[in-house]
Amino acid sequence: MSDPETDPIPFIDLVTQRRRLGRAIEEAVSRVTQHGRLILGPECEAFEAELAAFCGARHVVSVANGTDALILVLRARGVGPGDAVIVPAFTFASTAEVVASVGATPVFADIREDTFSLDVDSMAEAIAVARKEGLRPVAVIPVDMFGQPADYLAIEPVAEAEGLWLLADAAQGFGGTLAGQHIGTFGCATGVSFYPSKPLGAYGDGGAIITDDDELDRVLRSLRNHGEGAFAYDHVRIGVNSRLDAIQAAVLRAKLKIFPDEIAARNRAATYYSEGLRDIARTPVLAPGATSVWAQYTIRIADRDGFRAHLAEAGIPTAVHYPRPLHHQPAYRAFPTARPSLPVAEQAAREVVSLPMHGYLTPAIQDRIIERARSFVSVSV
Ligand SMILES: *Cc1c(COP(=O)(O)O)cnc(C)c1O
Repeated sequence: MSDPETDPIPFIDLVTQRRRLGRAIEEAVSRVTQHGRLILGPECEAFEAELAAFCGARHVVSVANGTDALILVLRARGVGPGDAVIVPAFTFASTAEVVASVGATPVFADIREDTFSLDVDSMAEAIAVARKEGLRPVAVIPVDMFGQPADYLAIEPVAEAEGLWLLADAAQGFGGTLAGQHIGTFGCATGVSFYPSKPLGAYGDGGAIITDDDELDRVLRSLRNHGEGAFAYDHVRIGVNSRLDAIQAAVLRAKLKIFPDEIAARNRAATYYSEGLRDIARTPVLAPGATSVWAQYTIRIADRDGFRAHLAEAGIPTAVHYPRPLHHQPAYRAFPTARPSLPVAEQAAREVVSLPMHGYLTPAIQDRIIERARSFVSVSV
């Protein structure tokens, strides 16, 4: 028997979304298997055009995943050994991994206390540290943490004044806006991920690069397909194999149609959580002029472990994004930091906890989560 009071709640509900999409998915997949253009071809082209129209950018280059999206931009712009790229310390590993993987040096900066975005003053310090260490700072990668646009309007002018270009890591943030402009239109290029749990998720891996730069677009198309030139088996640069599967492109075209509606539903759910939790936890803060896609709904709570255990007992899953800042990770410890410690990132890693978030939360489910969360506070005081 199912019981709405005690049934386990999914952290991300892809089943309800699947039911809503109905035959659109079968039709998308069978279209591809029938025309047989499995790699690149019409599905990828149509998806790229639709995604560009969605966010108001000139070009979208679809690729195999969000990590490759970032790597390919770094490669296209010639980033390599001796170069430094400033990244926030509080993010998923990819943001720093992509820098190290092209032979450049990630330099970690702290984040803002309110929005988890890269802190512009700490970025400036990181640039100075990089120069002092004999590196050439060339770029900065702000991250749309938890789905909220990074502080692009403050970051970009400071980066530019220092001679750095900006690559947006919008793996979590695609679909959001800042000052009325869609994510995808900030900086020199934007990397997006379609990993299944991201707000716009495929049924497998996928990613895209968004840019207004015609030359960058041209080079990226070549790089993702073995450095192809003007004709078959003409290789003009050393590339990689990083193409979006046509089946995933077809699935994403179907999901893009309902994406605006899902973004609205995520925003309603976030507001509902915040109204119910504001007085017992630090709920998310939106910067002025920013709209979020709520990749995660993340609160801060001092006794995080106790809180998670209390919710888990009632069948409510939570997650920690992320329990350790990157400058404390074994693989990244040796890289420079803006300061010996990055206290805001370190504190966030101790306190953050994410609640179930997707476009299919109902008030009944949220009431159950909110009540359980509130009962933790009354138990613990
Ligand atoms: C998910 C994510 C990525 C990587 O995306 P993949 O498609 O999994 O490679 C990069 N950066 C951030 C901030 C992410 O959350």
